[in-house]
Amino acid sequence: MSSRSVTDRLRAAGERVTAQRIQIAEALAASGRQISAQDLYAQLRRERPGIGRATVYRTLEALVSAGVARRLELDGHVSAYVACRPQHHHHLSCDRCGRVEEIGEDVIAPVAARVADDLGFQIDDARIDFYGLCASCAAG
Ligand SMILES: [Zn+2]
Ligand SMILES: [Zn+2]
Repeated sequence: MSSRSVTDRLRAAGERVTAQRIQIAEALAASGRQISAQDLYAQLRRERPGIGRATVYRTLEALVSAGVARRLELDGHVSAYVACRPQHHHHLSCDRCGRVEEIGEDVIAPVAARVADDLGFQIDDARIDFYGLCASCAAG
């Protein structure tokens, strides 16, 4: 994820763009997996001792509203965040290693079609997150 696209996406969503917000977005993208706000804050603080907890938390919410990140639910009502591509997609979230893979609309389309046909529900949007074990954790 380039910082340029993060900037554009934040602006398009009417969110403030600051150097610190970009740094937080980049740290999230670099982690390549789901991470709680607390863990991301702890990680950032090692590199940038001046960073505030509230800034990290608020920025994560701004990234979610701009579609740059999405919130996943972990056990114990803990939220985790993952960096996202702009394209519409869904997630496979590994409970063991924290890896998050994106899956495209093609996987979900048959489910959506069935919901529309069987239940008569007109779907405007769907975001589906699957929780479990990734292929390498399941094999190990
Ligand atoms: Zn995503
Ligand atoms: Zn895994």
